[in-house]
Amino acid sequence: MSDETPSRPEPVRVGGPVCPTCGGPVVARYRPFCSRRCGDVDLHRWLGEVYRVPTNEPDLPPGQEAE
Ligand SMILES: [Zn+2]
Repeated sequence: MSDETPSRPEPVRVGGPVCPTCGGPVVARYRPFCSRRCGDVDLHRWLGEVYRVPTNEPDLPPGQEAE
């Protein structure tokens, strides 16, 4: 048994994972994004939500308050 893996081309699947930032095809190196930039964008957006107070407050119906 050889542990050599046969070289095969990158699997290109239609409808596969796409970059959540721009919707482009995901590059394995930058998963789950297509590039480092998109990863940074998403990260900053994520952090931004933490520090930024949302203007649109979700109007929760009364009686659904969690302790
Ligand atoms: Zn992208």
